[in-house]
Amino acid sequence: MIQKVNILGAKVDKITMSEAKQVALSFFDSDGGKIIYTPNSEIILYASKNEEFMEKLNSADLMIPDGIGVVYGAKILRNKLPERVAGFDLLKELLPVMASTGYSVYLLGAKPGVAETAAENLKRDYPGLVVAGTHDGYFTDDGEVIEDINAAKPDLLLVCLGFPKQENWIYDNREKLDVKAMIGAGGCLDVFAGNVERAPEFYCKHGLEWFYRLKKEPWRFMRMTALPVFALKVMFTGWKYKQN
Ligand code: UDP
Repeated sequence: MIQKVNILGAKVDKITMSEAKQVALSFFDSDGGKIIYTPNSEIILYASKNEEFMEKLNSADLMIPDGIGVVYGAKILRNKLPERVAGFDLLKELLPVMASTGYSVYLLGAKPGVAETAAENLKRDYPGLVVAGTHDGYFTDDGEVIEDINAAKPDLLLVCLGFPKQENWIYDNREKLDVKAMIGAGGCLDVFAGNVERAPEFYCKHGLEWFYRLKKEPWRFMRMTALPVFALKVMFTGWKYKQN
């Protein structure tokens, strides 16, 4: 049983990257429909004010600490997480294994054309990778998209619609989707397509990815104010949540 840290009601898995990779791979041999959520402090702060969304978040079969703020939040609660496990980094661990073992991936999300470019780049970077299908994230008919995904029957479905849309979409459609596992992966397709640059390793290693993104995308400033608000909320009210 994986232990969890309760951060403002979100039950985040106390897991290393290597353990998360094993758990995710085990989903491909399961009965399917497994959910991986990748919350950062902004998502947990939002969930702490929205009970229904928190319930959806906690329905995850694997909830990894995507952001450094979540790792600090656990530290404040004196219930440390072993490390940050970013969704993007988990995908970079999973994709080569998928390429060599034949597990397939479906890319859903981002602006028209982005998922196709991401697919080309991923097939180039991970020879043998089966990309079972792609679809942009600006659709109105869920049914048509679900039909396309189910015809492809991917082992892993990447849902990159931004938060909270992707978590809601995964939860609301989980029983209709014929996939082994699905992950809410935010802006990953933009990075795989080469449209957005991931922060260099130095920034990621030192918990400064937010600073790098702020420099590159200053319009994110308002969204980033969530980080200190989250930290203060954990500091002053975090103890109220039962630690398990
Ligand atoms: N997006 C989408 N459909 C929508 C809204 C957003 O496909 O209706 C995509 C958007 O084009 C981008 C991603 O979702 O590729 C969100 O990226 P962001 O880095 O903002 O992710 P977040 O930080 O919200 O997880």
